[in-house]
Amino acid sequence: MKNIVIFGAPGSGKGTQSDLMIKKYGFNHISTGDVLRNEIKQGTELGKTAKGYIDNGQLIPDDLMVNILASVYDSFGKDHKGVIFDGFPRTIPQAEALKVMLSERGHKIAAMIELDVPEEELMTRLIRRGQECGRSDDNAETIKKRLDVYHNQTSPLINWYKKEGIHNHIKGYGELDRIFGDVCSVIDNI
Ligand code: AMP
Repeated sequence: MKNIVIFGAPGSGKGTQSDLMIKKYGFNHISTGDVLRNEIKQGTELGKTAKGYIDNGQLIPDDLMVNILASVYDSFGKDHKGVIFDGFPRTIPQAEALKVMLSERGHKIAAMIELDVPEEELMTRLIRRGQECGRSDDNAETIKKRLDVYHNQTSPLINWYKKEGIHNHIKGYGELDRIFGDVCSVIDNI
């Protein structure tokens, strides 16, 4: 079982790399952003709470996120090939909660893969995605807030995972095939 945290700023390519990994390795996938957008679409209570945070570029409170995560993880059964965590954890308390949740099940994270992309490139990609996909939080003002949140609350996880001894840095821009090749060599070496 290879549980992977795919990590990086908004627009760093976590979703794209996840799709390629799912195809190649048959992993399951949890995108907390997709889970929340789905709740919003269905008009649930959670969706209503989440919308305010998402449209303002802020993170949903940790306790809400951790509950969602455990139930999605358990939906994959006990003997899966591995789960890709995409967009989670985003804070140190989330990383700690993830570690506890997995260890209660006798599981662990095998690798954290950081996709490192310069800020200018992130802005260009997110603005383009906003025009193409119409995501409500892909507008210049909210993107800026999300990047600030990434720097202040999420990027400290790089050191946290270095201390866990499972951090892997990948240059997340340039040729897609090269980026995915780097991701595969991390996975193949676990
Ligand atoms: P994403 O699709 O991963 O870029 O997430 C979109 C938005 O959903 C984020 O800007 C947050 O508002 C919210 N969100 C997604 N994942 C998390 C998380 N792990 N913790 C808190 N908020 C999250």
